[in-house]
Amino acid sequence: LVRKTGGNNREFFSPELSKAVNERLLLGAALKRAVSDSHLRLVYQPQIYANTGALYGCEALIRWNDPEHGEVPPSRFIPLAEETGEYEEIGLWVIREACRQLAEWRALRIDIPVISVNLSARHFQNRRFPDQVLSVMKEFGIPGEQLMLEITESMMLTDDEEVLRRIQILRNAGLGLSIDDFGTGFSGLSRLARFPVTEIKIDKSFVSGYPEDNRQRSLLEAIIGIGQSFSLNVIAEGVETSEQFQLLRELGCPVIQGYYYSRPIPASEIPGWYRRVSHLPGN
Ligand code: C2E
Ligand code: MG
Ligand code: MG
Ligand code: MG
Repeated sequence: LVRKTGGNNREFFSPELSKAVNERLLLGAALKRAVSDSHLRLVYQPQIYANTGALYGCEALIRWNDPEHGEVPPSRFIPLAEETGEYEEIGLWVIREACRQLAEWRALRIDIPVISVNLSARHFQNRRFPDQVLSVMKEFGIPGEQLMLEITESMMLTDDEEVLRRIQILRNAGLGLSIDDFGTGFSGLSRLARFPVTEIKIDKSFVSGYPEDNRQRSLLEAIIGIGQSFSLNVIAEGVETSEQFQLLRELGCPVIQGYYYSRPIPASEIPGWYRRVSHLPGN
């Protein structure tokens, strides 16, 4: 930007600002290429029943390794993709890749009960989205129950009847609906009752402070109680230590996800992981 305008125009831009703008433009263009040149991949993080150690499912998390920019974290490029509109394509790729992977594992007799994918609120602005999802699932023979859609709490604030209708179509087809980072938004409990939610994921900020911050215990207890009252599955995210794991189990949190069990791992490592835990009761 600065280079092109040159001369006197230069002083209208602060160097920091134009550098940031320039970086976004470059990254945005690289992201476009990443989608077409398949520099995106998914990694999978196992989710485990706290009581039995059996496998509940896996969360698919996107990774972008760019030849020029290196490994770019999703916290950096997902918001960008949402702004540029690129996310619509990326999100569908994620769903397709997860379904393809499930079918590949199934052929290997690796029966992963459910894969959850992260969605952006933007998807539900698209009236074709439910059909697009269902046709990909049909293509790979994936039953609705094997896919979980993670949305953010803020999405529950919508009053758009169309959005609700699109979510309901997917729920009717058996897909689960999970509220990611639960407890960090301000959606209120009445929304939870109104929305066809099947699961809440306790944000890792509620887990990570324990045991140093003992107030976390009451918060965790309260959130798990909410899940029970609404008959929802509850997953605690960001469980890193055995103390945190013990506490959550004690509080009756059914499912645990975090480095304590496993980091997100490449698809190729899931079969080995599956065989190690599949002999456990409940699996
Ligand atoms: P999220 O959906 O809440 O995913 C959980 C994040 O916590 C992941 O970061 C995961 O690697 C990390 N994590 C898991 N266990 C632990 C732990 O024990 N300790 C700590 N400190 N972190 C843990 P990641 O993969 O960098 O993703 C960050 C966020 O980016 C995700 O948060 C999600 O909001 C977004 N994201 C990732 N993949 C996708 C995607 O395919 N689509 C969309 N729309 N968003 C995605
Ligand atoms: Mg998530
Ligand atoms: Mg999130
Ligand atoms: Mg989360």
